Amino acid sequence: MKSMNKKVVSIATSIILAASFITGCNKTNNQDSQAVFNNIKSETKIENMSNTIKELTSEKYEGRLTGSLENKMAGDFIAEHFKKIGLQSPKDINDFMQYYKQNTIKMKNRPLMKTFDSSNNILKEYQFLDNFYFTLAAHRKINGVVAAPMYYVSKESDLNKDNKELENRVLLIPKEVYLNKNISDFDNILNLVPSIKALVIERDKNDPKQFEAGYFMNPVNVPSPTSINNDGTFMVMCDSPTFLELKASAEKEQSLYLEASYEIETKEVANIVGMIPGSDPKLKDEYIMISCHYDHIGNNMNGTYNPGAFDNASGTSVMMEVARILKAKDIKPKKSIIFVAFNGEENGLIGSNKFAFNPPCDLSKTVDINLDMVAGKNDLPLTFYSTKDSDLINDLSVYADKLKIAHDKKTGNRSDHTSIEDMGGQAVTLTEWDMKSGYHSPKDTIDIIDTKELGKIADFICYYITNKAL
Ligand SMILES: [Zn+2]
Repeated sequence: MKSMNKKVVSIATSIILAASFITGCNKTNNQDSQAVFNNIKSETKIENMSNTIKELTSEKYEGRLTGSLENKMAGDFIAEHFKKIGLQSPKDINDFMQYYKQNTIKMKNRPLMKTFDSSNNILKEYQFLDNFYFTLAAHRKINGVVAAPMYYVSKESDLNKDNKELENRVLLIPKEVYLNKNISDFDNILNLVPSIKALVIERDKNDPKQFEAGYFMNPVNVPSPTSINNDGTFMVMCDSPTFLELKASAEKEQSLYLEASYEIETKEVANIVGMIPGSDPKLKDEYIMISCHYDHIGNNMNGTYNPGAFDNASGTSVMMEVARILKAKDIKPKKSIIFVAFNGEENGLIGSNKFAFNPPCDLSKTVDINLDMVAGKNDLPLTFYSTKDSDLINDLSVYADKLKIAHDKKTGNRSDHTSIEDMGGQAVTLTEWDMKSGYHSPKDTIDIIDTKELGKIADFICYYITNKAL
């Protein structure tokens, strides 16, 4: 912490210099820098970025789920690009591949939820992801079948060990009860009444407190294979209209059938890392990192898959194009530039976390511009998203104003900047906070991408590099 403070002072000094530089105190340099930027910018090819998005969202990558063969193919595609354009593979990185192990999820069959009557007639079958999804978490059942009568929990006090009606039931928990509780509170009641078969929890898609988007294929924080308890309880999230139907079914003494077959396995997967080493003997030990995540959430086991164009083929395409532009223009930056495509972001920022614990650069001398969901057709400002303020964000704000890019700021930890910030680097995710256009669904195709905007973001990053590294 103390040595970091020192670092902040020296960065602050260079910012004052850089700020005076770009605000025109030094006219010659300013013109030079503008000329260099114009030259670099002339190389930006929107077509390259839209081709990358088309490639990564095509059926052969099937949603790039970490741990899948398709995810590996997507990683190979990026590594191949790094090689072709002439990036270097950093020290201790194996041919652009930074291998690491993580828990991965595989869905073997499409999950099922059906109501049935006392003669075992199926009354209604609900649709996975449209109406419900399974929560995969430690201590839960994620594999197998449950068929049991339902019990509607009308108030929190129903959840007590002396309530015999909970036994061997599927509990329907409305949002009024659920919102007052933590997941761990449910563990308490499950420990007291171990015969409870499943928790079906209402999630209101229209309530911003409960929901920002569609239904999620996979949760963050993949539990470890050993923490799963398939003798335990299913936990299912269910949209409000479906939930009300189930409540009515429960009142008619109907039962619920649930089936899921997930597999959790620890696998070796890879971040893709390339670099342009700095040309200045001193400054080469400072790093500008351009990062993104290339993984997504896979297929839906119903003939559809989640292409992940906005999330995050968009950011990946910009990162790859910026790397190509710098090499094509034979730019020799004074500082080193690192390009990273993280894996395992959707599973809880796993790839960036592994990277941050084993970085090929000194993170205290690194600024990371991370790209996650950019260039949507949503007219939203570019959000500078981070866990804390930094000089990096101040610089980017100045540069965005220069280039007339509408921008705002948001605090949070839902993308890979978090891993870098946690380990002492400065990091920000450039993102458009759009969870409506197709987030985590088959609708996330190139049709929701504004390809011209990709060019603006690539230029913005090149502008930063021009001012900070050349
Ligand atoms: Zn995502």
